[in-house]
Amino acid sequence: MQVNEALVRNVVEEVINRLGNGNGSAGPVASPSYAGRFGQFTCVNEAVAAARDAFEQLSRRTIEDRRQIITHIRRIAMDQRVELGTMEMNETKIGRLPHKIEKLQTLGERSPGVEFMRSEVFSGDHGLAVVEHAPFGVIGAITPVTHSLPTLTGNAISMIAAGNTLVANPHPSGKRVAAEGVRRYNEAIYRDLGIDNLMCVIVEPTLDTANALFQHRDINLLCVTGGPGVARAAMAQPKRAIVAGPGNPPVVVDETADLDRAARCIIQGAAYDNNLLCIAEKQVFVVEQVFDAMMDAMERAGAARLTCAEVEAFTKVAIDTVGEGEHKHDVPHRDFLGQDASKLAAGIGKCVPENVELIFGETDESNPFVPVEQMMPFVPFVRARNVDHAIEMAVRSEHGFRHTGIIHSHDVANMTKMGKAMDTTLFVKNGPCMAGLGLGGEGYISFSIAGPTGEGITTPLTFTRERRCSMIDNLRVLGK
Ligand code: NAD
Repeated sequence: MQVNEALVRNVVEEVINRLGNGNGSAGPVASPSYAGRFGQFTCVNEAVAAARDAFEQLSRRTIEDRRQIITHIRRIAMDQRVELGTMEMNETKIGRLPHKIEKLQTLGERSPGVEFMRSEVFSGDHGLAVVEHAPFGVIGAITPVTHSLPTLTGNAISMIAAGNTLVANPHPSGKRVAAEGVRRYNEAIYRDLGIDNLMCVIVEPTLDTANALFQHRDINLLCVTGGPGVARAAMAQPKRAIVAGPGNPPVVVDETADLDRAARCIIQGAAYDNNLLCIAEKQVFVVEQVFDAMMDAMERAGAARLTCAEVEAFTKVAIDTVGEGEHKHDVPHRDFLGQDASKLAAGIGKCVPENVELIFGETDESNPFVPVEQMMPFVPFVRARNVDHAIEMAVRSEHGFRHTGIIHSHDVANMTKMGKAMDTTLFVKNGPCMAGLGLGGEGYISFSIAGPTGEGITTPLTFTRERRCSMIDNLRVLGK
């Protein structure tokens, strides 16, 4: 018997349409092959095919539909933040629960969506040219363990706002919450709008699946958020990659700063989620003239100070050396990564109350905590002869990542000097690091801050291709 494939497809589609939303109205029209998977895939090829299929469907939908899709993602991230944030905390075992929950609220509520889309027009003697921002297609996304579902949520909102779909390879230690979030987002969207798999996730991610995604011919663009290894790997690919790489943000405090305010800001930023933010304050350089007063201000603001002997002991237990020869380097010890300040202190037998969010102590520039991106709530404070010396050390400690720099000062010339010297994507003055992402400062948020490839704090427009449409000698309705 000859099987008419088109007929079979139509019948299957019809069945899905009828079963899909159960209310008999305009029902789901997702491709039969992957509909109902809600973005869960073990095979990279299948995930990319499903996301491609979803992209074709999304391309036929309106901007209003995109807005509605994003509304579902925002709603679920915000309404289910406690459950999903707890899941992320239990799975990754790093950071702080209230912040895991808050990050989902923040990313759900504030990630840039379709309102960031725009077109440009050139109008002149020869008519009009309109520049529109088109989607790339299917984007391969790599997400970090430090904010698994929050990063994926923010990426999905901005990528879909621009008309793309995505396949994510999450960090293996944050894979379950990533898959569960994506499942919930897709299911709600499918029930309402009939498109499934706008976001696909590799549920058993490995370096091999990451590489398969990098090299897949049907992946049009990469967006990679992570540390130095993955940033290097993405930049070596023969296709365009938007790379949100590592940071090691220094803070400079000069003699004109409001020290109590600086101390409160440093604690707020550095202690958030136990120092896991890539923008978080990681080392502080204070001019000699106010160094002791600044240390007192930190204690007044609630941080616990370690003595020099305690700093030395803590450095021994909390920093490991890995690699051989020219690849030898220091890294944070995994037992302390993202742990509470009291647990860090307990590592050297010191008792610090559980409500203390940050520990700190004086070091010199050569202490490994200065160059290492520690991602734990201990911050080294280094004495500087003057502001120039502080800025010099700040630049060295940042390794040229050009990610984030922070200054506390009321001297505009010092701010300008540091801004020029650091040349970072984010430069925050007189606030905690998150103020640079619009949380207590102006601007908008994204958890993919593309320093190495230069796109900056990503928006939907980051994930678009420019297309120009020209009308020659007509449609300009002005003058002659
Ligand atoms: P990580 O580099 O260990 O992992 C990040 C992601 O890359 C994970 O999904 C991991 O599985 C994958 N990965 C790692 N090496 C890879 C390789 N060679 N090929 C393919 N994939 C690879 O980082 P992490 O611990 O998950 O996250 C913390 C790091 O991410 C920090 O360095 C932080 O500064 C950075 N980060 C940057 C931003 C930003 O916006 N610039 C945001 C968040 C985190």
